[in-house]
Amino acid sequence: MEVYTLENCIFCKIINGEIPSNKVYEDEKVLAFKDINPIAPVHILVIPKKHYESIIDIQDDEMDIVAHIHKTINKIADDMNFKEDGFRIINNCGENAGQEVKHIHYHIIAGKTLNWP
Ligand code: 5GP
Ligand code: ZN
Repeated sequence: MEVYTLENCIFCKIINGEIPSNKVYEDEKVLAFKDINPIAPVHILVIPKKHYESIIDIQDDEMDIVAHIHKTINKIADDMNFKEDGFRIINNCGENAGQEVKHIHYHIIAGKTLNWP
């Protein structure tokens, strides 16, 4: 798979190894790594290796990457033994959601009871 990266994107730099990360899972399409500033005992980010700013930038014919990200989340939940207890998936999209890193990412939060909202 051809990988498209952006020079000044920190998550692209994590993908190409310029910035180190604690990897949890990797394949040709996605990377999962521990969040540097965890808000729960388990806090993992899952990102596509191709740079998209947010879900808004993913065209219909490339939406299979989102299914792949969700399959990856299921696998991680199974491998890391939190699928029975439950977990939360968060995707902050754009300014009102407070998206800080402009490379689409799915947070997996687990390991404790989570308040809602
Ligand atoms: P957002 O607010 O954009 O949804 O979340 C961005 C997340 O990326 C934050 O939870 C933040 O802690 C995490 N983050 C930012 N920079 C780095 C980094 O260099 N390494 C890792 N592992 N996480 C990062
Ligand atoms: Zn990027």
